[in-house]
Amino acid sequence: MTATLAKIIWLAFAIGWSLLRLNPNRRARKTAVKYSGRDFREFALLAASLTGLGIVPCLYVATHIPRFADYPFMPVASYLGIAVDIAALWLFYRTHHDLGHNWSVSLDLRERHTLVTTGIYAKIRHPMYAGFWLMAVAQALLLPNWIAGPAGLIGFGILFLGRVQREEEMMITAFGDEYRAYMRRTARVVPWLY
Ligand code: SAH
Repeated sequence: MTATLAKIIWLAFAIGWSLLRLNPNRRARKTAVKYSGRDFREFALLAASLTGLGIVPCLYVATHIPRFADYPFMPVASYLGIAVDIAALWLFYRTHHDLGHNWSVSLDLRERHTLVTTGIYAKIRHPMYAGFWLMAVAQALLLPNWIAGPAGLIGFGILFLGRVQREEEMMITAFGDEYRAYMRRTARVVPWLY
């Protein structure tokens, strides 16, 4: 394993993730939205996440900027990164499968929105965000650079912290006691812990 190969592997997982999103994106465009919480704040949160998980690491992989922040490559970290990225893609696959037409890139409630509480949603309320956390950890493990590596954790962290409570409030407004009961029997991201 070399640093260059680790970068190529990071890119391959990023492309794999984009391919997994093709169908859900297509379906989302066809499914009408009943309520949208998209506002400037949501736009800024999405931009932060895209910057940290996409733009900064892509720039690093393509141009080696910012080179000054490089640190010595450790093969064992990159093997761990591959394992974590595989887990992340599996989570994305499962969440899109279980969430179906209810998925949205932002805070939306769709026509005929249903509350999903089974499958990957049975133990945690935000398995897709768990997938993004894992993807961000994998990025930090695969890219030996103090800026490009942790950028995903910071960018997605901003989105997560700025959105998760709002999303749960939106779900309570839409589903009331059904969502409150679901909250009582599930964790947010880490089963039984948080
Ligand atoms: N936070 C979830 C979903 C992310 S997609 C996760 O991490 O897996 C964001 C959209 O999913 C939100 O706009 C919301 O409408 C929808 N959503 C979130 N939880 C849901 C659930 N349990 N059932 C149905 N839709 C849900």
